[in-house]
Amino acid sequence: MPHTPAELMAQASEKVKERAQGLQKSVKHRSREGNLLRARVQGSESAPYRVWVSLEKGEWACSCPDEYNALCKHVYALLLTAQTAPESFVEGPAPRRLPNVSRWTDGDVERLLERLLEQHRPVVTDWARVVAEDRFMDEDDWM
Ligand SMILES: [Zn+2]
Repeated sequence: MPHTPAELMAQASEKVKERAQGLQKSVKHRSREGNLLRARVQGSESAPYRVWVSLEKGEWACSCPDEYNALCKHVYALLLTAQTAPESFVEGPAPRRLPNVSRWTDGDVERLLERLLEQHRPVVTDWARVVAEDRFMDEDDWM
């Protein structure tokens, strides 16, 4: 019998339950594969923490620096989200990792952009607009 989110949440300390309040909105990229739940939870670090919970085995993991195997606030927030908004989890495997673009040469990027322009022109023009807006906002930050 798989565990329910509530059963696992009961194992969290009072401190964790308290600290997880309001964290639900930071639970992103929610996916479910059978009884395996996955999400990214934005914490205090710039990169979101990777969190997964197996309801089948009653196990969990989180990439945050909290005590190994402890039920941290990120796991708790994921469980709380699974309990209150199960429909928000996308069925299927988590999105694959993005390629490590830091290893790409300028030529690689150019060839990719050329292909995108041929086949998905709106993606490129939309992205160019987003980047331009980002730069504009960065400039505002200096003022
Ligand atoms: Zn965590």
